[in-house]
Amino acid sequence: MQPDFSKNNGLLSVILQDSHTKQVLMNGFMNEEAFKKTTADNVVWFYSRSKERLWKKGETSGNIQEVVSMALDCDQDALLIQVNPKGPTCHTGTQSCFGDDYFSIQKLESTVQNKIENPKEGSYTKYLVEKGLDKILKKCGEEMTEVVIAAKNKDKQELIDETSDLLYHVLVMLNNEGVSLSDVEAKLEERHGEKQDYSVREDIQNW
Ligand code: AMP
Ligand code: ZN
Ligand code: ZN
Ligand code: ZN
Repeated sequence: MQPDFSKNNGLLSVILQDSHTKQVLMNGFMNEEAFKKTTADNVVWFYSRSKERLWKKGETSGNIQEVVSMALDCDQDALLIQVNPKGPTCHTGTQSCFGDDYFSIQKLESTVQNKIENPKEGSYTKYLVEKGLDKILKKCGEEMTEVVIAAKNKDKQELIDETSDLLYHVLVMLNNEGVSLSDVEAKLEERHGEKQDYSVREDIQNW
């Protein structure tokens, strides 16, 4: 990976994105030294234009940004970094500098995990987990049946509702079994690259 530092006064525009939730977190700048430090340390370093110095993101707040992957744009003057943030990325306390009005299924996964680990009084998620795997599986089965019925009935609103129910219960089940969406995502990504695999898998042959 070789960024082009001959443009933009030697500065690379850098966008941080949460590798798990895919939320866009912040925009910053790197000079060549900040880029080298980032690749050497595997945590994000910026060049502060206001302070005119190198700046390790999280140096005072502790909210360090671990590098998961990096990609240059088409003309090598912008960098997209997927990170594992060790705390809110914005100094105002929000996860993202662009505000936290963001939702993804991975965010729901984190919420489910939080509801299990720090349950509130009367939490349905905690109730399910306390009842155990059989109860969770029974609910997954019921919700899947409701999804099938909604689809059969050509009822789009019902299909959206029931798929939401199903996905939530599947997330509870996966959490209960110690499997994360990242694991599933990695498998899908692996399959995506291995086209040959599909030809032997009858169920997904014609996708
Ligand atoms: P930190 O790097 O998180 O320890 O923050 C140190 C200082 O850098 C803060 O007090 C801010 O002045 C600045 N800073 C940190 N994060 C951001 C950000 N996401 N956007 C703009 N300035 C920031
Ligand atoms: Zn560019
Ligand atoms: Zn900010
Ligand atoms: Zn339902």
